[in-house]
Amino acid sequence: RLRLDGVVKRFDGVTALNGISLSLSGARSIALIGPSGGGKSTLLRVLAGLELPDQGGVEIDDVPLPTDGESLIKYRRSIGTVFQSYNLFPHLTALENVTLPLVQAHGYAKEAANGYAMELLDRFQLASHAGKRPYELSGGQQQRVAIVRAVAIKPRFLLFDEPTSALDPEMTAEVLDLIAELRAQGRELIIVTHEMGFAKRVADHGIFLGAGRIVEEGPAAELFAAPQTAELKAFLGKVL
Ligand code: ATP
Ligand code: MG
Repeated sequence: RLRLDGVVKRFDGVTALNGISLSLSGARSIALIGPSGGGKSTLLRVLAGLELPDQGGVEIDDVPLPTDGESLIKYRRSIGTVFQSYNLFPHLTALENVTLPLVQAHGYAKEAANGYAMELLDRFQLASHAGKRPYELSGGQQQRVAIVRAVAIKPRFLLFDEPTSALDPEMTAEVLDLIAELRAQGRELIIVTHEMGFAKRVADHGIFLGAGRIVEEGPAAELFAAPQTAELKAFLGKVL
């Protein structure tokens, strides 16, 4: 359950979010789409607790997002985030990348973290890569390890910011399949993507952001099949 009320975020002179209001319950997966500079990443960062709104409020399951240091840090640790690229620590193996947050922020003993992380890597067909460092992995494999790391902490929800935009089509497919699998497991996802086919396939709810505002939103199936605004029609016409 997600509620935003008049969220405004400015960066010296630029209004990135210009009054975002939203009330959603029951949507397990949300696709955020829209033109470059529209505010998608900023909205994701606000939801992750990485940026504080200048005005307005955010509530998750009827609890306001914390604003003070310590509870904000705690909150951030409860959210799984995967960004475009450069997600992994380059000097650590895939396994170490997954265990580091478990040990440092989630109270796991080293042994338990190793066992649990191996189990997860195995479940996502990455066990044979556990001992490799990022430079020894393909972009798609790296991104899948980053997703496993985000999933490992049992996050309240998972945020993805264009997780495939740095990948070629084949690697894109393997990463999107993994995200679709998480969706099928019932995890809650919010995903910024330019892959409209994918958004259509996995999202329950779609939000089209332009110039820091919600231009149009609705059940994903309807939003993509029958866009109402000229802006969304033009956008879909361009990207499809
Ligand atoms: P893209 O599709 O290109 O990733 P986006 O929809 O994610 O775009 P945002 O990154 O949220 O857009 O940016 C929204 C606006 O806020 C842009 O005008 C951007 O330049 C500005 N902005 C975002 N982050 C910052 C920042 N840290 N400092 C200054 N301006 C910022
Ligand atoms: Mg962005």
